[in-house]
Amino acid sequence: MALTEAERLERIAQLVPPCPPPNVWDGYDLCPNHGGRWPCAQTEAYWLARGLDLGEAQRAAIDALPKPADFYAGPEDMEYDPAEDGA
Ligand SMILES: [Zn+2]
Repeated sequence: MALTEAERLERIAQLVPPCPPPNVWDGYDLCPNHGGRWPCAQTEAYWLARGLDLGEAQRAAIDALPKPADFYAGPEDMEYDPAEDGA
């Protein structure tokens, strides 16, 4: 019984769960599980199986990390937006 393309990719994604991103805010840039470059082969395999763009997936994973309190993203973060007030 042959798997469909989607089923095959789903199986692969389940077999190779992605590694968590290194905490780049603390100066780490290696895979926490494998100690090599990140994204490691396992993480890339998962993203590929999920049909994700590698660059976007990498950015999203790093964006999802908690940022240090003193992190300064840039001028756009300093703009005052009244809509965000008094919610
Ligand atoms: Zn890894």
